[in-house]
Amino acid sequence: MSLHIKTPLLASRRLCPDRSVWLKLENTQPSGSFKARGIGYACQVYAKQGARRFVSSSGGNAGLAVAYAGRMLEVPVVVVVPETTTERAKELIRFENAEVVVHGSSWAEAHEEAMQRVDRESAYLHPFDDPYIWQGHATLVEELAEERGRPDAIVLSVGGGGLFCGVVEGLRRVGWSDVPLIAVETEGADSFAQALEANELIALESISSIATSLGAKQVAQEALNRAREHPTHPVVISDADAVGGCRQLLEAHHMLVEPACGAAITAALRSPLSDLIVIICGGVGVSDDLLRSWEKK
Ligand SMILES: *Cc1c(COP(=O)(O)O)cnc(C)c1O
Repeated sequence: MSLHIKTPLLASRRLCPDRSVWLKLENTQPSGSFKARGIGYACQVYAKQGARRFVSSSGGNAGLAVAYAGRMLEVPVVVVVPETTTERAKELIRFENAEVVVHGSSWAEAHEEAMQRVDRESAYLHPFDDPYIWQGHATLVEELAEERGRPDAIVLSVGGGGLFCGVVEGLRRVGWSDVPLIAVETEGADSFAQALEANELIALESISSIATSLGAKQVAQEALNRAREHPTHPVVISDADAVGGCRQLLEAHHMLVEPACGAAITAALRSPLSDLIVIICGGVGVSDDLLRSWEKK
């Protein structure tokens, strides 16, 4: 049994009538993002190894994916989040029967508390830096190769680089290692682009973008390693243009995604390449009110 679904792949004439732009609809995963794949897989491995509890410190899509996986596997989940986490996010996690513990004023404090709660019977689920997570995300590329031939490039968002590592792994599995990746971030969350430029890990002092799902201050070392081996083109998009991407997807296909995902859509629509696949990574941290308030700014 897998905890993710096989998602639709949609050729979008409405978003881009003159070039071929295909959307891999990871927003349709049960947890609302691609995280269902890697985190679902990692949770299954840890449950088999005997974990009797899962611990997460993400109030975002990663925490939600852990909560979902825990409910499906009948393993209790604790998600420690900082005071800044929205009521809506906490509600969604509780709706998956997970326990939400509010601790500290920043993610770092919540994370510390979460680590203290990890014991021999429980497993901590990292949001992006875990080989099992990359293995799970890689299934996305296997589905692409079942449905069509190789594209000119694949466009994807990068936060901590878990999705990126998984996609590189999937490309190797299906023999598409020459397919370039367009790796998209927003200004103020561009820890991957900066690391590629410097050819070493860069720690951002703070995250200033509204695309909070991309807000890893430092990417996984393995993301940088894999970018050195795989043709990778970093692109950095403004918050306003990321929000514009959300609006375009909403109007074309009536689907609402986070700016973390809108950034990839905008980058794809700006690319001169004629045959692209965009990973619609999704995300539940968005609403019609939020989209409108971002548009006003
Ligand atoms: C987690 C997430 C990302 C970034 O993924 P990484 O694996 O951290 O690079 C992008 N978009 C959404 C919606 C996410 O939930």
